[in-house]
Amino acid sequence: MEELGLPDGSLIPQITGPGGFPALVLNADFRPLSYFPLSVWSWQDAVKAVVLDRVSVLSEYETEVHSPSFALRLPSVIALREYIPAARRPAFTRFNVFLRDRFECQYCGDDLPAHELTFDHVIPRSRGGKTSWENVVAACGPCNLRKGSALPKECHMLPRQVPRQPTSWELQENGRSFPPNHLHESWRDYLYWDSELEQG
Ligand SMILES: [Zn+2]
Repeated sequence: MEELGLPDGSLIPQITGPGGFPALVLNADFRPLSYFPLSVWSWQDAVKAVVLDRVSVLSEYETEVHSPSFALRLPSVIALREYIPAARRPAFTRFNVFLRDRFECQYCGDDLPAHELTFDHVIPRSRGGKTSWENVVAACGPCNLRKGSALPKECHMLPRQVPRQPTSWELQENGRSFPPNHLHESWRDYLYWDSELEQG
């Protein structure tokens, strides 16, 4: 086992940089707090939460941190002791619009990273369109440009899905289809095996 400690007994501030040894954070029902972006904490935050007894540790890395009074293996999966209910109505944010539309241009269907997507008003603002769940979709730059300030029927460009306010559950479900950048083997069970079983 790798042992890390400082002569003065304090926890080492960084082991392999701030991004090393992230802990997957589960809600009290053992499902990830969020799928996309995946709910992960730095090891520092995870250790703090363990010390304060706010989480239970479900899985650990091999690496330990030491203080004069205790040694602790870095947690790789933690679960909150208190359940945090999902917001009933998700916030109307750029990110959540893209997540609702699965990072797909609603006109040509291209899959794009968030920074290449734009926020398109189906009824242009210049024509009285509102900035709302029902009138905003994800679009690639070229489609947004092509559409300009035309009404959908004028340019024959209709979004693939009628835009509407998603539920938090729908956003979570969409988020599940995006694999995380970092995947520790101890996370697999919680990320991929928690789909609800059909009862027959
Ligand atoms: Zn497009």
